[in-house]
Amino acid sequence: MALASRLVKPETQGLVHLTVLRSERLSPHWMRVTLGGAEIDAFRPLGYDQWFRLFLPLGGDEGLERLPAKANKLFGYLRYLRIPDGVRPVMRNYTVRAFRPATDEADAELDVDFVLHGSPEDGTAGPASRWAQTCEPGESVVLIDEGLAFNPERGTDRVVLVADETGLPAIARVCASLPSHASGLAIVEVPSAEDALEFEHPAGVTVRWIVRDHDVKPGTPALQALREASLPDAPFHAYIVGEQALPTEARRHLVTDRGVPKDLVSFCGYWRVGAASPTPKAQAANAEAHA
Ligand SMILES: Cc1cc2nc3c(=O)[nH]c(=O)nc-3n(C[C@H](O)[C@H](O)[C@H](O)COP(=O)(O)OP(=O)(O)OC[C@H]3O[C@@H](n4cnc5c(N)ncnc54)[C@H](O)[C@@H]3O)c2cc1C
Repeated sequence: MALASRLVKPETQGLVHLTVLRSERLSPHWMRVTLGGAEIDAFRPLGYDQWFRLFLPLGGDEGLERLPAKANKLFGYLRYLRIPDGVRPVMRNYTVRAFRPATDEADAELDVDFVLHGSPEDGTAGPASRWAQTCEPGESVVLIDEGLAFNPERGTDRVVLVADETGLPAIARVCASLPSHASGLAIVEVPSAEDALEFEHPAGVTVRWIVRDHDVKPGTPALQALREASLPDAPFHAYIVGEQALPTEARRHLVTDRGVPKDLVSFCGYWRVGAASPTPKAQAANAEAHA
């Protein structure tokens, strides 16, 4: 994650070993994978846009067993890189779409919604997108909680939420976490009308779906919609996530053209066109310099 505002830390950052319980194709570009298992009680749900590092066993379970503690921090990450190629799990960032605590009848469950992108045939799909389509019940994964990018201290009464499809799970869960009297606007861009997965939201929050044309760069239509939108009365908490250029440009627009105070904008670059995630810092800096 190359660019982000002040984050809310998670309660714990240990490795949580989980198991795939089931998966479900929701629409042309959405796959839901439900995780559970013995260690799920170690996960502390925080609501809002809680996200985590997800380690996928593309080289088999041995890689997951060799994951060092704090693989998301510098020294742990260097130890993670020492796991040999072909065994090292793939690390990607995902959002808690839903968390159902354990009841007398059922164990706790965690839903993750994966955008299916690119094509497996020509190799543009990305390992996480491919994994979501093919994973089987019983398969192991590991996650490390990373906390929130939507900082509720910046306000939950009035919001402006903007995302491409990768941020739909985050916006849906933010809306589920807002107080029922909350109001504002959510702009969500999706690659097709069938991918506009409805979600519950406070009655005062208007949800505007933008369907992107096939040849348009992700994030561009959402940015345009934001530029044209009439926004709620200030103060409001703005939250923008998606392809790197969307949070960068949308934040600039809100601060420069609309006079929104910087510290009322939560934002996060979720992915970058043409770069696998997580983008090494040197590569990101190079891309920035040539943007
Ligand atoms: C905090 C955070 C939370 C996130 N939550 C979610 C979530 O809940 N659901 C979700 O689907 N994504 C989410 N993302 C985005 C996700 O991590 C990236 O899309 C990631 O790159 C997918 O990994 P991959 O292995 O499929 O592709 P990668 O190997 O990372 O990339 C391969 C190629 O695919 C391109 N690419 C990557 N993602 C997309 C995309 N969505 N559309 C088109 N091209 C793409 C890249 O530019 C690259 O060229 C989140 C990101 C962050 C930082």
